Amino acid sequence: MSIVSNLENIKKSLPEHVTLVAVSKTKPITDLVEAYKAGQRVFGENKIQEMTQKWEVLPKDIEWHMIGHVQRNKVKYMAPYVSLVHGVDSFRLLKEIDKQAQKNLRTINCLLQMHIAEEDTKFGLDSNELSDILGSEEFLQLEHVKVVGLMGMATFTEDEEQLRREFKQLKSYFDSVQNKLPDAKILSMGMSGDYKIAIEEGSTMVRIGSSIFGARNYN
Ligand SMILES: *Cc1c(COP(=O)(O)O)cnc(C)c1O
Repeated sequence: MSIVSNLENIKKSLPEHVTLVAVSKTKPITDLVEAYKAGQRVFGENKIQEMTQKWEVLPKDIEWHMIGHVQRNKVKYMAPYVSLVHGVDSFRLLKEIDKQAQKNLRTINCLLQMHIAEEDTKFGLDSNELSDILGSEEFLQLEHVKVVGLMGMATFTEDEEQLRREFKQLKSYFDSVQNKLPDAKILSMGMSGDYKIAIEEGSTMVRIGSSIFGARNYN
């Protein structure tokens, strides 16, 4: 299947309120151009350096989403252009994004990443860390970041019950922050293997890579 037909098929299956992030990490520019020509404008990458190289050469109406784990010392490279940072998993990182956004005279939209998977390897906040951030005085003073929702990654499993349980957990965190975060409209959950379940459980943004661009080759 081609990138264009994969994209069309996925877009047809998404409800109107769900945004598609085309996850293009490791893929060559030519693949992104194909998706762009088919109308895709939102791309997700998980390495700041790779995303920046792609941003430099591709059309400027693309929205770049950083979906991976972010190292604080690299925030400055994406601060001029990034549209949404999905993986904010510490207050220190949020403060660094605020600082770099301010230097660029921008406000950067962020999602707080919650830990929902059974695997300990996946990053994210627990519910106490989430309430500590949202309840802190310092948080209210950050003027150059806007927390527009939550993100999470479920366990890599085919166990549908488990996936549902983890997505429901994330949705309940999302519901619980609405009074503190009136701008929190985005719930980023679901990837190639589990996005249909994620949408049934309340996702408003899916991050899909291999079902669009094919399997990735890490060498
Ligand atoms: C790679 C990645 C995706 C996309 O994964 P696919 O299974 O290829 O759709 C989604 N979210 C994150 C955080 C990723 O790192």
